[in-house]
Amino acid sequence: MRITGVRAYAVQLPLAEGSYSWNTQSFAAFDSTIVTLETDAGPEGYGEICPLGPSYAPAFADGARTAMHTIAPSLIGLDPRQSDVVAHHLNTALMGHPYAKSAIDVACWDLAAKAAGTSVATLLGGAFRDRIRLFRVITRQEPEAMAENLLEYRARGYTHFQAKVGEQMSRDLERLHAISAVLDGTETVAADANTGWRQHEALQIAQAMNSLPFTMEQPCLTYDECLAVRRVLERPMILDEVMDSRTAIRRGAADGAMDIINLKISRFGGLTGARRARDLCVDLGIAMTIEDTWGGEIATAAIAHLAASTPDGFHLQSSAFHDYHTLPIASGGPEVQSDGTMTLPTGPGLGVEPLWDRLGDPIWTVGSSLT
Ligand SMILES: [Mg+2]
Repeated sequence: MRITGVRAYAVQLPLAEGSYSWNTQSFAAFDSTIVTLETDAGPEGYGEICPLGPSYAPAFADGARTAMHTIAPSLIGLDPRQSDVVAHHLNTALMGHPYAKSAIDVACWDLAAKAAGTSVATLLGGAFRDRIRLFRVITRQEPEAMAENLLEYRARGYTHFQAKVGEQMSRDLERLHAISAVLDGTETVAADANTGWRQHEALQIAQAMNSLPFTMEQPCLTYDECLAVRRVLERPMILDEVMDSRTAIRRGAADGAMDIINLKISRFGGLTGARRARDLCVDLGIAMTIEDTWGGEIATAAIAHLAASTPDGFHLQSSAFHDYHTLPIASGGPEVQSDGTMTLPTGPGLGVEPLWDRLGDPIWTVGSSLT
């Protein structure tokens, strides 16, 4: 099997709630890019990259598309089943930019599994489960609105939540108290500041949180700030934005900096890197939220396969991004259930097929049979 062509599509994913807000940022839609790999064997492979706007991480949609266009010629003639070889060629063609390489890597895994007549989860080591525990984001709003939002999602079966804070210390404490007042004692809630607090603020919030039923997620921008907060926090700590390499994971484990990491597939350049990070976390005894920066059904399918192939006890929760949108972009993807889980797709590969009429014409092609 050889890659013969590459196509990229751009699509806006509007948010069902009207907006998605974290620390001081807020967006009404996210800009996603879908990449298609054509092969001489017939099947096509699909991947998706959707940075959470241009200022969540060192990643943005136009950057992904430009980077992928730059490296696409180096893919022609490669065997997509050889993911390490493909990764080497991509790294030779362009240094860094793992998020841009992620969609291509996922598309290669999709093709490898299709060629083997099996699922991506099987190639990742096998599926431990066919239902994936989800968490639901409670977007940053006024305190009472966040509490009401949680109750709405509880009624839809969710038991895991992530409350977006990190805007302003005193207001965030009001948010956490309002949410705490409606919790039933069995639910899991992370207070995710998305790097929004300064260290002196996070230290005060950590002391307040020691008597509240939350885990704290990524309070500050840098690892050292988060480590200082960790030293006074008596609740579990999740690190997300700073967990961007296996070196970072090893250091965090050695320092006792976190109990859980948020493993985002595109931060590790796709499933090839994310699987290695996942396996390292298992070795180190660190549980994981497994997700990505954002996306639709294709990105969510990749999440489901990695999550399903993660051993019991180490997969804490995942995101069903497409369930936050009004625009489906693929069929066959994970289906959200009434018990706060999503299904693992059953088709070969990722199990998804793009809805081409939603994607429109390619924004660029390289070596494609399409003109
Ligand atoms: Mg987070």
